[in-house]
Amino acid sequence: MKLTDSVKTLKSVGEQRFALLRRLGVHTILDLLEYFPRDYLDRSVIHNINELQENQMATVRVRLSSHDQPQTLRKASLTLTKITFVDSWGTGRIEIAWFNQPYMANNFRRDCEYLISGRVKLNYGRLTIENPECEIVPRGTIGGEALSAGRIVPIYSLTAGVSQKVLRGLIHQAISGISESIEEFLPPDIVKRHSLCNRDYAIRNIHFPESSEAYFTARRRLVFEELFLMQAALLSVKGFSQQMSGRQFDFTDISEILAALPFDLTSDQAGVVSEIVSGMASGYATNRLIQGDVGSGKTAVAMILCYLAVKNGCQATLMAPTETLAVQHYHSFCEILSPLGIKCQLLSGSLKAAEKRKIKQALAEGEIDIAIGTHALIQSNVVFANLGLVITDEQHRFGVRQRLSLNSKGKGMGKDRHPHVLVMTATPIPRSLAMVLYGDMDISVIRQLPPGRQKIDTFCVTSAYHTRIFSFIAKEIDKGHQGYIICPLIEESESENFKELNSVVALAEKLKADFFSHIPVAILHGRMKAEEKAAIMDSFASGDTKILISTTVIEVGINVPTATVILIENAERFGLSQLHQLRGRVGRSHRKSYCILVTDADNAVTKKRMDAMVATNDGFELSELDLQIRGPGEFFGTMQHGIPQMRLANLYQDLPILEEAKAAISVMLKGGGKMFHVEHQPLADKIEKLLGDIQQIPL
Ligand code: ADP
Ligand code: MG
Repeated sequence: MKLTDSVKTLKSVGEQRFALLRRLGVHTILDLLEYFPRDYLDRSVIHNINELQENQMATVRVRLSSHDQPQTLRKASLTLTKITFVDSWGTGRIEIAWFNQPYMANNFRRDCEYLISGRVKLNYGRLTIENPECEIVPRGTIGGEALSAGRIVPIYSLTAGVSQKVLRGLIHQAISGISESIEEFLPPDIVKRHSLCNRDYAIRNIHFPESSEAYFTARRRLVFEELFLMQAALLSVKGFSQQMSGRQFDFTDISEILAALPFDLTSDQAGVVSEIVSGMASGYATNRLIQGDVGSGKTAVAMILCYLAVKNGCQATLMAPTETLAVQHYHSFCEILSPLGIKCQLLSGSLKAAEKRKIKQALAEGEIDIAIGTHALIQSNVVFANLGLVITDEQHRFGVRQRLSLNSKGKGMGKDRHPHVLVMTATPIPRSLAMVLYGDMDISVIRQLPPGRQKIDTFCVTSAYHTRIFSFIAKEIDKGHQGYIICPLIEESESENFKELNSVVALAEKLKADFFSHIPVAILHGRMKAEEKAAIMDSFASGDTKILISTTVIEVGINVPTATVILIENAERFGLSQLHQLRGRVGRSHRKSYCILVTDADNAVTKKRMDAMVATNDGFELSELDLQIRGPGEFFGTMQHGIPQMRLANLYQDLPILEEAKAAISVMLKGGGKMFHVEHQPLADKIEKLLGDIQQIPL
């Protein structure tokens, strides 16, 4: 049997089972072997019946008792089949019971031994195991080749119609039947340097480990390879952007703009600025992620660095994920930078064609210093005369490829001309994920908030509290403050399942008629035209509108310091990071602020999230928790970010292996700058395959 053979070559795989296996992504023998267990049961110890304890998970080695006959009891729709076994060492008797499997009565042979595993119960003083896993002990062995007991037993993710036992059997058949060893694709020096076992050993032992040491050795190797491949693939999407020579900024005096800002920088802001300025002066292209919690003042940092780029004779660009946010940035940039003689321009999708053309021309001719805009900026026909700095705000909204597309704008202008690249995110990313997503970047963190900020008091209540909440919000408005109400959906009818969700429109109607009849209320949602949205945001920012009822379009970056209360309806619909983002819309000044989470969902995951929100305001802490609760796949939306779903690695516990894999890649890159050496063809093939998956991610 070869690794490339179809799984149909296995005994007991016919058309029907083949179709089921395909659903698990399994076509070939190798696919099957790469279908790793999701968990294990340690059944390596075989217990004596006379030592069993109630409630224990146990495995016993038994044969039929010669004194007792199988019994089948029928009650209404239930049949109960009981068979008594004795253990092979004669230490005691145990009753095994099956529900609705009457054929079990004739399933056991007198001349065979069986391994039976399950939870031990005491039934009227009799030891019992109900609905156990059973397996025949092959004759002439002492537990050796049994697959479901007497060893560490793998547990697989299943599809309907394929049981654990069947899958175990097939995988075992494949492992013992293959006539070749499983190919090693990691370069030998990496295997050696990181003390990894070879792939053949790893794959055999990930399924049926000889011992727990063998399992750990196998797992370490396979997690390493998974993280290594993923980072290599992501890096190659990014063009292996190693330290590239970049524009050297000679002018580094930022005192003028510091004086123009209405506040002093926090020490974290100042630290990040000086770190980046010295990088930009070094002659290497800066390629850095700035992580700063909501409200930590990333805009000021961006502004200072744009100023620096302009003073060094370059253009800069700032890309925001939404039009609303781009407009807001544009206004704050103009306020500070225009008096210093720096020309900022807003470039957005909603401009008229003729205006757009004019702006693009001015950009191409270098008449504009700083361009601020949305994705429209990255459309291919925007050309900069002399782009020296690219800043992407709220990076978590963009995929890897979008970012690349913008970064590439500064290239092709002769070598040594790479623009500096900064990405900013207010979704604090756990370190492990940051390393994966931004494997090629340096990372700076702004942890501190500007002085005078207070903790945002957070409450979680059920919808029974609506009346009290609305009157609380009305009181905040009376104090001259403003508030947000966030709903997950736009229209009542959007989807059958979501009918019960409060929609923006319906809720606004209700509130305007009642609680907020005397208060200017506006609604905002994603289906509105850009100008409409901008007008509504303006009116809220200027304080004319007091309450904004909105979907998550306001999620990122919106800055209205007089807003002091945010109510989030159906809070269970949002992930932790998103809730934290939303909460960050308030508490943006010295005023005491509140976040009220409303949910009627009563499940453990929701409770965990809500408790975390109530307990802490620290975005980094929440992001770690979010990753833990949801797993990396869902953390940002897998496709959006191009993190392939991981088979074995757990970004949580495997950070040390991730770091090793990253180090291994750096060493390889230093060796020649390219991963795809001819002598590493098997590795190149693996990366290509993974890349195929990443490339399919839509822009
Ligand atoms: P974010 O990091 O979420 O993008 P912003 O840049 O929007 O945060 O800043 C949030 C608010 O804090 C703004 O009103 C900004 O003017 C203010 N701010 C930023 N830095 C400071 C500072 N050092 N001292 C006082 N206020 C600051
Ligand atoms: Mg921001």
